[in-house]
Amino acid sequence: MTMEGVTMRRIAVLNQKGGVGKTTSTVNLAAALAQEGHKVLVIDLDPQAHATLHLGLLPGRSGPSLYEILTQGLSVAEVRRTVAPNLSIVGSHIDLAGAELELLGTVGREVILRDQLAADEEQYDFVLMDCPPSLSVLTLNALCAANEVMIPLQAHFLALHGLSKLLETVNLVSKRVNRDLKVGGVVLCLYDAGTRHGGEVVEDLQEFFSAKKKGTSPWADAKLYKTRIRRNIRLAECPSFGQSIFQYAPTSRGAEDYASLASEVLGRAPASLWDDEDVDAEGTPPAAGADAA
Ligand code: ADP
Ligand code: MG
Repeated sequence: MTMEGVTMRRIAVLNQKGGVGKTTSTVNLAAALAQEGHKVLVIDLDPQAHATLHLGLLPGRSGPSLYEILTQGLSVAEVRRTVAPNLSIVGSHIDLAGAELELLGTVGREVILRDQLAADEEQYDFVLMDCPPSLSVLTLNALCAANEVMIPLQAHFLALHGLSKLLETVNLVSKRVNRDLKVGGVVLCLYDAGTRHGGEVVEDLQEFFSAKKKGTSPWADAKLYKTRIRRNIRLAECPSFGQSIFQYAPTSRGAEDYASLASEVLGRAPASLWDDEDVDAEGTPPAAGADAA
């Protein structure tokens, strides 16, 4: 599906907070894009290896991991595993937790992944990088290898807390190391239907963005995706089966929302359900009772 001259989109899924939906979004967006015929590589940068497990691999039993790429010079080709049509993964391992210390004396430790990806012959349409909940050397490797950042946020009154720190980090990386880096957008995850709270957070977010839009910051073109990922129990269940939502519960709201997000990421309209100005203005999703399948 890669067309000549079209750049590979390399998206770092980033938020230094845990539990906001990074891994769920990485895996299920990747599955949605792969299902549509795009060639996708997932890179799991979190030592907890949740994305690796979610895609059905057992960390450590499925051969080498990102750890060997970062510390022993293995290539992407030597590590990636194909887990579904059009979908491959560079897995993680708990050993990655030690990589930060091991790399302390290594010059250029932030750009190891970037260089290994550049050396890889395979042409992907999308590389999705699941970041750990920290701004560590692992996250820096993702930011240096990426040309786009996607930020999953929970519509929660503390959601904006920490966003400035995140912005500062992205700014620094884009200024000093990676001029191609842009924030593509923010996606609201674990969205609760009909809470007033959600609406307020959306307003705050829109204000935050319009303030940042002035100038040439990497946030200048960032958008708030119209698709909201509703809280859906199926999304919480599928990782323990090593399946994406499209394998585990293809007719669930979780599958519907991630298919809609994929559509927006591809530059198309979201599912009609989310394509409504009222959703943005009120933060009120069209259907209540989000925990139903
Ligand atoms: P992060 O990677 O940012 O730490 P996760 O994607 O692992 O966040 O999500 C945190 C927890 O919430 C996980 O147990 C996951 O299964 C669950 N979860 C994520 N998104 C949803 C959702 N939309 N509905 C229900 N549970 C969700
Ligand atoms: Mg995670």
